[in-house]
Amino acid sequence: MSTAQAAGGMIEGPNVIAPDRYVYYPGTEVLAEDEVRVIACGTGMPDARRGQASACFLFEFGNGEKMIFDIGTGSMRNINALMIPAEYLTKVFLSHLHTDHWGDLDSLWAGGWTAGRPVPLEVWGPSGMREDMGTKHAIAGFLQAFNWDYVTRAYKITPSPGNITVHEFDYKAVNNEVYNQNGIRVRTVPAIHAGDGPVSFIIDYAGMTLVYGGDTSPNKWFVEHTKGADFVIHEAFATPEFFVRDYNQPPQLAWRACCQFHTSGPAFGKIMSTIQPRHAVSYHTFEEGIDGVRDGIRETYDGPLSVAVDNMVWNITKDKIVERMVVSTDRASGVPGPTRQPPPVRGQANPMSKFIAEGEWGPAFNAQNRLLDAHSEKYNLQEQDWRKQRPWYEPTQ
Ligand SMILES: [Zn+2]
Ligand SMILES: [Zn+2]
Repeated sequence: MSTAQAAGGMIEGPNVIAPDRYVYYPGTEVLAEDEVRVIACGTGMPDARRGQASACFLFEFGNGEKMIFDIGTGSMRNINALMIPAEYLTKVFLSHLHTDHWGDLDSLWAGGWTAGRPVPLEVWGPSGMREDMGTKHAIAGFLQAFNWDYVTRAYKITPSPGNITVHEFDYKAVNNEVYNQNGIRVRTVPAIHAGDGPVSFIIDYAGMTLVYGGDTSPNKWFVEHTKGADFVIHEAFATPEFFVRDYNQPPQLAWRACCQFHTSGPAFGKIMSTIQPRHAVSYHTFEEGIDGVRDGIRETYDGPLSVAVDNMVWNITKDKIVERMVVSTDRASGVPGPTRQPPPVRGQANPMSKFIAEGEWGPAFNAQNRLLDAHSEKYNLQEQDWRKQRPWYEPTQ
């Protein structure tokens, strides 16, 4: 199936339910225990644009687990449109530390915290050739960079969801198990891309093997360890011509960007015709470059293929793989889950000085007295009326 067929089955009348639409409406489908749903939440390039985010694939498993593989710039807009409670989006696996693969971690971190995530995030990612090139260093620096955000949110909301637990693993280890819980096993193999550190992920679940490859040029570890896998995602980069035409890059660099730091269409095809997955998925090109990439792939591979765009979704079982498109709303927002966030922690230092706090302009606060009275009555908060300590407070009567 390809996107060109994204229509649906025959409609039997003018006022009936249309069968077999090739669409997925978030939140309307329960996965079978042995089923995995994979959603492309980012498939583009580092210069993310409104219509296409950078690398991100959400894996949802029939046992209820959800894992985010890469979280590139712009991808949280697609993830949030799936309307999944923040408490279920806590596990992130990073293939490498280019921003087009983790540039939206800030949005998951802070946005999910505000939207009610009750627990810290967990991030799995590779070590580097030096300590300052690894995931531990990156996350420590991330938290340092966002310290103002952390301190103010920790005070106002509650601190623990602002923490990040890092599981750094050895990027050089081949076929290395980095996760094994609830019947899901995740292994890594090294990738060859720009410098030491990048990896690809191999995920075993319900007797199936699914693969998420981050950026890499063709490498022997990938081919060796993904043979015969059920569902294989691997990059197939924009063509060299794209870099010359759209980015005005020197042709030498265009070639190296496409086809030495990354994997070209024909090289992707060669990999797939060698490992023979049940279904192959390429990503990492702008949508209008897809035809060029597909033509390249088809020189060397004639098996099942999706050249991914944002919001493509696959349901995968041992029997079949179904491709559809997510149909979601631009206006989705936080969705509550069953677990309530812990309350604010008392005794934390207030990150606001007396000088700033005393700058409050009373008339505007008094103007909302009626609103606060109504809110207090509705939620029984009269005991907590904090206006009375304020110098500007004037009761309405
Ligand atoms: Zn990269
Ligand atoms: Zn990339």
